[in-house]
Amino acid sequence: MTGKELFYIAEAHFNSKLAGDGPFTKKCHEWLENKTSSKKALLTHSCTAALEMAAILADIQPGDEVIMPSYTFVSTANAFVLRGGIPVFVDIRPDTLNIDETLIEAAITSHTKAIVPVHYAGVACEMDTIMDIALRHDLLVIEDAAQGIMSTYKGRPLGSIGHLGAYSFHETKNIISGEGGALLINDERFAERAEIIREKGTNRSQFFRGQVDKYTWIDMGSSYLPGEIVAAFLWAQMEEAETITKRRLAIWNAYHEAFEDLEVHDLLRRPLITDYCLHNAHMYYLLLNSLDERSAFIDNLKEKKINSVFHYVPLHSSPYGMKVGRTVGDMSNTNRTSECLVRLPLWPGLEDYQNNVITTIQNIVK
Ligand SMILES: *Cc1c(COP(=O)(O)O)cnc(C)c1O
Repeated sequence: MTGKELFYIAEAHFNSKLAGDGPFTKKCHEWLENKTSSKKALLTHSCTAALEMAAILADIQPGDEVIMPSYTFVSTANAFVLRGGIPVFVDIRPDTLNIDETLIEAAITSHTKAIVPVHYAGVACEMDTIMDIALRHDLLVIEDAAQGIMSTYKGRPLGSIGHLGAYSFHETKNIISGEGGALLINDERFAERAEIIREKGTNRSQFFRGQVDKYTWIDMGSSYLPGEIVAAFLWAQMEEAETITKRRLAIWNAYHEAFEDLEVHDLLRRPLITDYCLHNAHMYYLLLNSLDERSAFIDNLKEKKINSVFHYVPLHSSPYGMKVGRTVGDMSNTNRTSECLVRLPLWPGLEDYQNNVITTIQNIVK
């Protein structure tokens, strides 16, 4: 918490407006629209919900294909699978661990509807190339920017570059509300329908603005909006977004400097940030040389009471991913990263303990 969360929750209570789209939700929408220059921002319960809305807006039908990395969280794929779509997995780049943009075109078929770049660790995918491919093949681009708030690609905020973009405010992300998310609608074509899908398929939002004299069921939809208590918490975080990001970056940079020597000696690899990307220090990870080395590393740290974690089981080799998805090309970077990557602790407040974490890691690796 940054300080004002409980105060704003109390204020939401005194406003006697606890359902969605009250004053705090509006503040969050304005903040997101100002920050990203997106045409429209809508809070959702989660990034998962925002991706599900995107799949409906993209009109994904059974058999439609969606190109994405396999090295990602399940929601990237699930949102489309729920509509009968087929996730088509391509490998990631070995440097940024983002989807390898040079492999996308070979995965396109007559069934392809969309490309879903995931900005891993808040570091931008090669968006110019991806947007160019999408334009030439008439595809939609839906950014999974779950980890990407406050990051930019060539000066443009992540999530605001594709036709649609999704943020997460889950407690493991940088700006949080427990569970929470937002959909950015960057292409105006989708703005009106997005409001309707989010409000159970009704035109209730237009009704509240006085644009229609009664509201009714006009499209498919669900309940995708969070209540005001969640928005109140989130607003306190948004007010401090710059400070949170600065603190995270300082921690990230301290790790990066401390481990340079280990990388020079080929003992591990550090994250790579491309020079067209300003990142948000969502994650500090290390790439060790093998699965065995990583297991030993995590066990060693655990003995010293330091928690480190790994992820993801690649979607293409997960039980459900094998059933509903398919891969195009070799997946060796995905498989290798899945075995060798470890995430270090990174949260505002770690400053007091970070030197200990760093020296412990240096000793273990050496
Ligand atoms: C966290 C995350 C999600 C899911 O976000 P929720 O808000 O928990 O639904 C989706 N994609 C990626 C890449 C994530 O990191």
